Amino acid sequence: MRISFLGGAGEVTGSCTLVEAGDARFLVDCGMFQGGHDAWAKNLAALDFDLRRLDFVLLTHAHIDHSGLLPRLAALGYRGPIHVTVTTAELLEVMLLDSAHLQEKETEWRSRHSDARRRHVMPPLYNVNQARACLEQLRTIPYETEFHPHPAVSCRFHDAGHILGSAIVDARVHTASGTRRLVFSGDLGQAASGLLPAPARIDGADVLLVESTYGNRLHKTPDETRSELVRAVSGTLDKGNVIIPAFAVGRTQAVLYALAELARAGSLPPLRVFIDSPMAEKATLITRRHLERLTPRVRELDRWMRGNPGELELRYTREVEESIALNQIRSGAIIISASGMCDAGRIKHHLRWNLPRSTCAVLITGFQAEGTLGRRLVDGARNVRIFNDDIPVRAQLHTIGGLSAHADRDGLLSWLRGFARAPARTFVVHGERATADGFAEEVKRQLGWTRVEAPQRGETHAAG
Ligand SMILES: [Zn+2]
Repeated sequence: MRISFLGGAGEVTGSCTLVEAGDARFLVDCGMFQGGHDAWAKNLAALDFDLRRLDFVLLTHAHIDHSGLLPRLAALGYRGPIHVTVTTAELLEVMLLDSAHLQEKETEWRSRHSDARRRHVMPPLYNVNQARACLEQLRTIPYETEFHPHPAVSCRFHDAGHILGSAIVDARVHTASGTRRLVFSGDLGQAASGLLPAPARIDGADVLLVESTYGNRLHKTPDETRSELVRAVSGTLDKGNVIIPAFAVGRTQAVLYALAELARAGSLPPLRVFIDSPMAEKATLITRRHLERLTPRVRELDRWMRGNPGELELRYTREVEESIALNQIRSGAIIISASGMCDAGRIKHHLRWNLPRSTCAVLITGFQAEGTLGRRLVDGARNVRIFNDDIPVRAQLHTIGGLSAHADRDGLLSWLRGFARAPARTFVVHGERATADGFAEEVKRQLGWTRVEAPQRGETHAAG
């Protein structure tokens, strides 16, 4: 069996792993690279292998860094099935179309604004029609249901507790030398976040790929997170706005329910929350349709929100004009907008207007990859460039890690302790270089596992 790490190895975006075992060849995830000046080039160069010999694709969840190149895979000639959970399919319909639409817009904007001497404008990776065509290849599988994507492979999706629909992929591959169990953690949720159930426990694997986004960090406790949120929000709304960049799927809803909980407890005054991202609106509506997959706490909060619209006034802005009109609000608004790493979408406009004002606050609630605008803000930049303008950063910046959709170092280790014995091989993926290396060492030290390594993008390993 050979495992090739095509992305999401030594970095947190572009997740894509090729498995070749016996006569089966399949991909787990097909994510887009995001952040950094070379992301586009990496996306264009990705998927450089014989797609005709690919049998099937398994997807862990809908986030673009795991799913965003699926339409490109299809556009380049892959016609086979893409197996996903039922809710992931619903989310993908929103996310892949939005991703295609954003790329078309971005290309159009660049061709209008690029300097005449540097006429070359990057084409979109795929267009809306190609994204729509790719959705036809999705095959939905309920959680905990065995399926057979290939005569020699049987699979199950377990709940990863990361976002709605997220799955741990548990595959058994039958080869001439016996059956091998391969487990792909995907992104693992934070059990304490209270939004989704804790990640399903897995008792064993021959080969394990485990994520390590926060493999070097510990999140604050839910109580500390609540007080941080109260401080950041209540101290700001009198004189300014609170801007929250958030992934449309997962983060937006986690932030919303965290605010609702504080408003209900009386820790915050009645709130005016704008969700300024059509995709986040759709994702929030999908979430509210699937409350049965969330925790009882969230179901109760959702009921409270419906019964008390004056305590948390929730508005969705759909049209661009409505979004622009938000720039006129000087104080009292909480604006949640995408993208989560501040690199694209409407959030750039809100940052452009609110960052120069010392009375405003920006709340960072998710991981910010190297090279993104969000990372520059977290790292303390005094000036940032947005839409070709230099924007001074005077707003208060708060990083609220406790709302993360990812398990922290101890959360990951605790999930690994569920394995009855060490897998023959463990690959630490989906973490920045130093984090992934450090977490691999931690696993060896704390769990006594011996064959643990953090592969690089482009490496192929023979794995038994
Ligand atoms: Zn994710």
